[in-house]
Amino acid sequence: MNIEKTKNAVRNVPDFPIPGIQFKDVTTLFKDSQILKELTDGLYEMYKDKGITKVIGIESRGFIMGPLLAERLNAGFVPIRKPGKLPAAVFEESYEKEYGVDTIQIHQDAINKGEIILLHDDLLATGGTMDAAVKLVKNFYPKKIYVNFLIELEDLKGREAFPPEVQVNSIIKYGI
Ligand code: AMP
Repeated sequence: MNIEKTKNAVRNVPDFPIPGIQFKDVTTLFKDSQILKELTDGLYEMYKDKGITKVIGIESRGFIMGPLLAERLNAGFVPIRKPGKLPAAVFEESYEKEYGVDTIQIHQDAINKGEIILLHDDLLATGGTMDAAVKLVKNFYPKKIYVNFLIELEDLKGREAFPPEVQVNSIIKYGI
């Protein structure tokens, strides 16, 4: 994969959704058939030898590459969603945001004990969302948890949110 070309294809939208945020828009990656293929191939190469049994996508931008990757890895796909969206019994986890608290949920029958899990989302900022997702997955006693992002905003040091046993990878990095 040509990382520089992929990075250049991410649309930066200043002051969205609120003033001061530089929003990284991944829709400009996905609309390009060549980049979409390179991303899928690149992710597959990163995880093909890890024995992943479930790919878990975080609502909602984790629902785009997550299922593509799950199919390639011969793994299942599981959504982590915002409250009120999943119809059956759930586990839930709440976490602090800049303003207030957010909650995410997963179905209680989504994962079996001892599975090897790959959690995926589009972007790592503070790491709060994904750290809550890791805690949710730990309810199932997985054998191993991998965490993957397309984009990492390195200056926010989100990586430091995760316990050392969780392996964190990102493809495109925006440094300090
Ligand atoms: P965090 O929990 O702080 O790591 O935030 C990660 C979540 O917020 C991801 O689901 C991202 O899609 C979204 N997000 C946070 N900051 C940005 C940004 N600058 N551009 C695009 N999405 C963002």
